[in-house]
Amino acid sequence: MRRKLVAGNWKMHGSHKANADLLAGIAQARPFGCDVAVCPPFPYLSEAAVALAGSDIRWGAQDCSAHEQGAYTGEVSVAMLAEFGCRYVIVGHSERRAYHGESDQLVADKAKAALARGVTPIVCVGETLAQRDAGETEAVVKRQLSAVIHTLAHCAGEMVVAYEPVWAIGTGRTASPEQAQAVHAVLRAQLRAATAHADAMQILYGGSVKPDNAATLFAQADIDGGLIGGAALKAADFVAICRAAG
Ligand code: PEP
Repeated sequence: MRRKLVAGNWKMHGSHKANADLLAGIAQARPFGCDVAVCPPFPYLSEAAVALAGSDIRWGAQDCSAHEQGAYTGEVSVAMLAEFGCRYVIVGHSERRAYHGESDQLVADKAKAALARGVTPIVCVGETLAQRDAGETEAVVKRQLSAVIHTLAHCAGEMVVAYEPVWAIGTGRTASPEQAQAVHAVLRAQLRAATAHADAMQILYGGSVKPDNAATLFAQADIDGGLIGGAALKAADFVAICRAAG
């Protein structure tokens, strides 16, 4: 059976005080029966690394550069993240795709840069409401994942995939467990065709996961945990979601 992963995407939220309280609240609730990670904004990552040292709670970044180093003002390389012990990096979040014009290939290049430094990319895919209504869900997520599979080639089995329907992110509207499972099954089948490790890979669901819907989502055959936005900012909610996974 696959071990579940619950990762909190803090987005552009937090402060020294709020982060310390949140991390303490999560750490106090250990142990969890699943993998747990938090992804604070860049300036707070090293602080989180220190706060979590010696605990089994992992941390990750919300984005990275596809480049190794160089004249890329404002970007952060995976080598820099890895130096601090970064375990995961979220790539291709729909907010990056929508607000920063990130293409499928750029997302794939970021995932490759992450793996090259031993950092696990959490690759987000997901359709907009218009795409779902047009019956394009499967084609969209397959196209997004395909770019990553081709770029990672024999390393494809090392990524984590997150299915995040754009219409469910931060909207309070969750995909039903059946809707989510249907897409996860499509993604698993695509991964099976690409790598022998597909059945061991974690495919997370993200989109308005809350303490009251987490257990039914996580009970689906191909849902291996969650990428959590809003509910990751309240220790009690995030802990309840982790408990639902473990
Ligand atoms: C996200 O941004 O990855 C996310 C899933 O957000 P929320 O849980 O708030 O919908």
